[in-house]
Amino acid sequence: MRVSARVPGAAAAAADAASPESFRRRVRAMYALTPDATIQGLCPLDVNARNIDSYEQGRWELVRRDVAAALGDAVARRACAFLDDVGAIQDAFGIRTNAVNFKKVLLRALYETEALELRLRRLLTYYRGDMHKDGGYRDAARFRETCAAHGRCRGAMKAICDARVFLKQICCVPRHPECYRPKRLATMPRTMITRGFVVRARAKTGRDADADRAARDEDDVVGYAFTPRDETQPSLTNDFDRLVTRAREELRVRTHEMDFIVASLVARGVAKALVVREELRAFSKTCGDVARDAEKLASRVRRDHDDPDIVMRERFTVVDEETGELHASSEALEAFRVAAEMDSVALALEGSAPALAETKRWIDEALANPRTRLFAAGDDAHTTSFVPDGFALVKMVSEYAETIERYEPGALAELARAGRVDGAAAARVTRAEGTKRCGRCDRSYSKLWIVGSTCVLCEQAARDAGRCPISPACPPGFFCPHARACLRCERAACDACGVSRGDAEDVAQLVETTNAFCVFLDFDRTICATKAGASPLPKNFRDLTPEALAAAARRRAVDKDFVSLLRSHGRAYVVTRNSNVDAIETYLRAHGVARPKVRRVMPGESKGPTIRRALDGEVDAAARRGEDARAPSVFVDDDVRELLRDDVREMRERVKCVLFSRAAS
Ligand SMILES: [Zn+2]
Ligand SMILES: [Zn+2]
Ligand SMILES: [Zn+2]
Repeated sequence: MRVSARVPGAAAAAADAASPESFRRRVRAMYALTPDATIQGLCPLDVNARNIDSYEQGRWELVRRDVAAALGDAVARRACAFLDDVGAIQDAFGIRTNAVNFKKVLLRALYETEALELRLRRLLTYYRGDMHKDGGYRDAARFRETCAAHGRCRGAMKAICDARVFLKQICCVPRHPECYRPKRLATMPRTMITRGFVVRARAKTGRDADADRAARDEDDVVGYAFTPRDETQPSLTNDFDRLVTRAREELRVRTHEMDFIVASLVARGVAKALVVREELRAFSKTCGDVARDAEKLASRVRRDHDDPDIVMRERFTVVDEETGELHASSEALEAFRVAAEMDSVALALEGSAPALAETKRWIDEALANPRTRLFAAGDDAHTTSFVPDGFALVKMVSEYAETIERYEPGALAELARAGRVDGAAAARVTRAEGTKRCGRCDRSYSKLWIVGSTCVLCEQAARDAGRCPISPACPPGFFCPHARACLRCERAACDACGVSRGDAEDVAQLVETTNAFCVFLDFDRTICATKAGASPLPKNFRDLTPEALAAAARRRAVDKDFVSLLRSHGRAYVVTRNSNVDAIETYLRAHGVARPKVRRVMPGESKGPTIRRALDGEVDAAARRGEDARAPSVFVDDDVRELLRDDVREMRERVKCVLFSRAAS
């Protein structure tokens, strides 16, 4: 949007000085939701905790625009230079972007780790008999290795989970500085799962200086639970408060002008960006503390307790040299049991400590390099290319995959031969069987071996055949051969298949970084929380007063990031199957989209031709004006079927597809 660089005239300035009231009246008059307003949107003077989400935010330019419009260019230049100098505001926005990207990388790492942990857990149950006296402990090494890999993998998984959960909370702190600090942040580190490992380990080892602390920690709530006393902690606004105080003291503007500047800082997300930075510092410190405690305790456990493998070697007696068969007295078994218990305590700590340290390292990196775009989700061919060099989290976790590769094929082959195996193998197969029936092969398994209604064997067969392992209804085209996963049913995304996955913030970032030529957004369940085909407004919306219409529009939740994209991008379209085109346009106007471009697609048709027509029209128009139209466009839909139709896929060079999913944030 273009803002005329209106400098308040001498008369206006004189009136302002005489009366703050007339200043506020003049400023309020510049803001409106209509396209002819000087600035589209609500006036920052009216921002409060309830309406703050309706303000366009997240960019420093927005403050400059507000201040220039109200106080003139000269004051805006001076004030904004001062504010950015004192508050490092642009840096804070850069840090926030890196935090958002890091959060996404952590989600991916979490998915990968969860998948590995599940496979290790299966092997653990499957080979449990290795540790039974009937087998003479002949295959104990296999079980012990699986145990160690699983224990550490689980520790790492919980650390990644902590990192992801807290990063998400930090990125979503309330925009308004008067809101309370989110409970989970207010209660860290008690609400970290990995901190629970530390507390438990202390309780089991506590003898010295830490014993007191361990006793106190017993009262700690472990896991994601809260106590009432935590609920009213204020947001971390030290940086913001300091900035405002200094500005009030040193920036030579009148009090009511300063009030306006502060309101703009709040409305445009500056206050939030500064809170995010403080929260990141606090979380980095906490991660470091917990990592250090975990490491210290792990080595103490290792020092003070026997290794289960050594107990076996030293206290079990050899029965048969040839087969390696062992015998254990009941004392030896008890010693082994204790050692194994302490071993599992140490494994959780050993798995989580490095993952927490790595999390801390990258938060610090983000804080120290606000101008460097870390973890920028690029559009390169490689799905992992957005991970910076030296990011060890993924590699750390993939080490556990070696154990899986060593033992899983044997287990699956045995399962497949069920009925034709005997002895120990038959006992193992029995351990995987249960009461849950596979929808594809009629065999029944225990819960661990069935995902959805597909057993582990059928899942593998489906993947090998290039078919969706979850839903038999998915056509082969939904299956991505690169990730070996169904793009509709699983949490897969693949650049080679032209489908990435993201929430509205991801889309906004993609549009920003690729300088997207056109944007095409689905409406139902994407921009607006309407059910498919429902009108976002009541039937009589044409007869409503502007106030009633605004109230009706507010009743339907809208995605803020998408709406600000529609407001700010000159070639943003809504492409929908919803027939209520009029209502959608009115609804979007009520949300500040000056000229909504809504295109309806008829039942049974693909969205492809509609997108192609709009795109070609925009390319022609750009050519007439001599503008560059080479940048790719972006198409967003929450239904992967819309993205995978042939006529959409054919445009892959010109149109990047994003599968909209809120969970992907
Ligand atoms: Zn099956
Ligand atoms: Zn693919
Ligand atoms: Zn599927």
